Amino acid sequence: MFIGHFAVAFATKKVAPKASLGTLVIAASFLDVVWPVLVLLGVERFRIVPGFTAVNPFDFVHYPWSHSLLMTAVWSLLFALVYFGVKGDRAGAVWVGIAVASHWVLDFVSHRPDMPLYPGGGERLGLGLWQSLPATFAVEGLMFATGVVLYAQVTKSRDRIGTIAWWAFVALLVALYVPGPWSPPPPSQNAVAILGIVAISILGPWAYWIDRHRGPAAPAWPDAQALRR
Ligand SMILES: [Zn+2]
Repeated sequence: MFIGHFAVAFATKKVAPKASLGTLVIAASFLDVVWPVLVLLGVERFRIVPGFTAVNPFDFVHYPWSHSLLMTAVWSLLFALVYFGVKGDRAGAVWVGIAVASHWVLDFVSHRPDMPLYPGGGERLGLGLWQSLPATFAVEGLMFATGVVLYAQVTKSRDRIGTIAWWAFVALLVALYVPGPWSPPPPSQNAVAILGIVAISILGPWAYWIDRHRGPAAPAWPDAQALRR
């Protein structure tokens, strides 16, 4: 899954308003931040097999440290603890941890059965949504639209950057996502990994930048007061 992870990041802003969108984007994509690094180090492996799924040509042969269920739990906990240590936002830390864990669930739905339960385990899980291009676009498109609406509802731009940078971010993700299935296969595994690292190095800071130019749509306290009356 690709823009589905961003959908989770956008939607999580509603329940974790103190967490920056940058943190949420990195949390929801965190397994894919770890993965390219381990690919470049030769620790994890994948093959490029044109036509392997309807959506992309990736056969994830071995990626237990970035994408096993057990390690996802470890990454979620570590991410939540670091976030709590830096921000002291206990409720937000729980949601940020859930955003990290959501990555495994969404990949489990999309991938062919290649998701390990724990490093060294032989079992592989995956529901294979990527076998169908229309189903992938429907599910991920609906998730993405929902995430965009939720984030746009619970935040409001403080200035023009808050509007332009946010909608440009949304447009860029769609532009990167839609042509994917019709693009030629990437030249090499390392090219995919480097592109992944470059992407998050741009999209992460961009999302922090958006967040600094948007605030809560309405302060929470007048609502609470109105309810008490
Ligand atoms: Zn992934």
